[in-house]
Amino acid sequence: SASIFAKVEMAPRDPILGLNEGFAADTRAEKVNLGVGVYYDDNGKIPLLAAVRQAEKARLEAAPARGYQPIEGPAAYNAAVQNLLFGAGHDLIAAGKVVTAEALGGTGALKIGADFLKQLNPDATVYISDPSWENHRALFQNAGFKVENYPYYDAATRGVDFAAMKASLLGLPAGAIVVLHACCHNPTGADLSESQWGDVVEACRERGLVPFLDIAYQGFADGIEPDAVAVRLFGNSGLQFFVSSSFSKSFSLYGERVGALSIITDGKDESARVLSQLKRVIRTNYSNPPIHGGAIVAAVLNSPELRKMWEDELAGMRDRIREMRSSLVDKLAAEGATQDFSFVTAQRGMFSYTGLTVAQVDALRDDYGIYAVSTGRICLAALNTRNIDYVAKAIAAVTRA
Ligand code: PLP
Repeated sequence: SASIFAKVEMAPRDPILGLNEGFAADTRAEKVNLGVGVYYDDNGKIPLLAAVRQAEKARLEAAPARGYQPIEGPAAYNAAVQNLLFGAGHDLIAAGKVVTAEALGGTGALKIGADFLKQLNPDATVYISDPSWENHRALFQNAGFKVENYPYYDAATRGVDFAAMKASLLGLPAGAIVVLHACCHNPTGADLSESQWGDVVEACRERGLVPFLDIAYQGFADGIEPDAVAVRLFGNSGLQFFVSSSFSKSFSLYGERVGALSIITDGKDESARVLSQLKRVIRTNYSNPPIHGGAIVAAVLNSPELRKMWEDELAGMRDRIREMRSSLVDKLAAEGATQDFSFVTAQRGMFSYTGLTVAQVDALRDDYGIYAVSTGRICLAALNTRNIDYVAKAIAAVTRA
């Protein structure tokens, strides 16, 4: 008798994980992996933040029991998330218009948001930026939605083609779901200005769109407050919208899976109904979130001392990435790269779309053991004071070839 899995086909390889496998198998000592999506410190290690370590120590000593959590996660965590996104004491929070549920990272937040939206508006189409984080399309498709692109990146200017983006948004049907990177656009590093965000808010209002803001890098561009500009503009607009947020990067807690989904409603009564449905989505997926990561984040955010420590450490990560950006630009110029790379310092967050061609990316890998995504995306946080000279030399060389 045939196996019940006989017809299962091999799924396509995840491009980034494939790249990591290639990197792991590479025996060259000088190899560098710029394909990753995590922050490494100057020693090339994923940091364990001191604020996190201190909160973990206190938790270990307190030895709390491990009962089930509320389906939507603990109130202290969800309140801390809201304060970070909207600013403590924001009118929306005071009016009971924000429903927040802890989620399994930013991905989990997107997924419970997508499942809830599917019940609400099953025929809506989801629009994501061109290009976008590679999981956006698959995630919304697997939730049952049709997914299309709106124009975003302009390779010629290495920035956002905002005229095209805005025109596209103004042409969408009412009820269309628009996924927006609130800051530090992945993969391009190209963000909207505050006034452009204002235009996006008005386009969403005019067309009756459902904005879904994805904020996975709050604090990685200019700081916690300035990086929330898009969330704040939407928050002050009177519109209703979704926000998925993640602490994976800002707390360096990737594997703990700490994020949240927040939904803006028209008031307390609606919030109660929305939360009740969202809890059903969560209950039937994974019942309730794990304790540890959220407890640590809440402990840090709700303690003035630990919060200050975390803000300093976050600033340290942000500043190091910026240093790597400007240092790479300087070194590329000094090495005689044929292109001007100064745009790299204007891009924000962890990534840069370098404009390197597929052939140049292949040459970096084959000739130098430097791994980048075939689109030319590199992670600036994978550069450090030991490997940056080597990387700059190699990139300059492949641009001259
Ligand atoms: N959204 C964007 C734009 C991202 O870049 C990422 C992570 O790479 C996520 C969401 C998911 O974050 P998490 O690891 O918390 O699920």
